[in-house]
Amino acid sequence: MKNLNYKLQDFLTEQGIGNYSLSIIENAIDEKNDKIKEIFGNTAIKIFDIDCNNDTSTPLIKTDMTSVVRNHLVNVIKIMKDSGVSYDSWFVEELTSSPLILENRFSRDHEILAGDTTIKVSPGDKVIKVLMKISKAIGSIDIEDQVSAIDKLMAAANSFKKVRGKIVLSILPYDFFTLSHDSYGWTSCVAAGGDYFIGTTALLQSRNSFVAYFVRESDWKAGNINKKTWRRIITIEDDGACLLGVEYPRKIETLTNELKKILKLEDEHKMDKSSFSASYGLYYNEFKKVNSLEAFNMNKNANTIFEVAKPPSENKCIVCGGPMTNSNMNSILCRCCNLDK
Ligand SMILES: [Zn+2]
Repeated sequence: MKNLNYKLQDFLTEQGIGNYSLSIIENAIDEKNDKIKEIFGNTAIKIFDIDCNNDTSTPLIKTDMTSVVRNHLVNVIKIMKDSGVSYDSWFVEELTSSPLILENRFSRDHEILAGDTTIKVSPGDKVIKVLMKISKAIGSIDIEDQVSAIDKLMAAANSFKKVRGKIVLSILPYDFFTLSHDSYGWTSCVAAGGDYFIGTTALLQSRNSFVAYFVRESDWKAGNINKKTWRRIITIEDDGACLLGVEYPRKIETLTNELKKILKLEDEHKMDKSSFSASYGLYYNEFKKVNSLEAFNMNKNANTIFEVAKPPSENKCIVCGGPMTNSNMNSILCRCCNLDK
């Protein structure tokens, strides 16, 4: 299997772990179940191009720019009023309503009298173009300033409507250890120093679990191929039942929809939330948040218990190979090795 130890050595050295056992790590990957091997074939990382509209209301970056745009439009109306421009009342109504701000187009006819110029507006006309016409007609730089500020915000808002990048499925050890690293400022209990850092060891050694995450196109091109904008842990059982773990740092429906297409998960095979549960071994129990999980049973078996991670006694310390019972939860090593460190 190629590239299995990509970045791993650097990461473990950073954690102060010099003498880890590569064979324990590589065996853990080899022991993934057949369903997972089917997905990954002869590689540890599968990459899927994503270029689609973000048709849900969740932008990739949370910013409420609508109200900022509205403030600029209110300023424009004030400048128009002060300059003696006349317009119908629907013009103001349309200009400052939220849907129009996002659309950037008028949906009605308007007639505006600016100086000696009559400006006719038809449904579909671009707001910014109309405002520039008004600005020209009355020779106002003030309107131009407002328009260029709106223009910049609109360009940024439009970029949120597109989701471009890669969905990565990974069994790379590095990706287990950095589930909540290399990200956009968000973190979780399984990050180094977190209360459940041990969970990465457990997931790595689980037969059933792998990592899915999204990397933005700009990060990918810059070579930051593990930079996680969003991630979910996926568990697939031998019988084909598939559990999508909690979304971090938050729900992004567009990405989940793309992930479901990749994994060929059909909504008609969705399992009732009361019909499954998860055992999570040493892993942080985000899998207890049943409302945030989604499960799909391709073989229509009921009462599936997903084994997200192995129980402590079955996980090996990556340094000494001993069991991870009585381990420090915030360390990826067994208690003895952790004390030696
Ligand atoms: Zn140990």
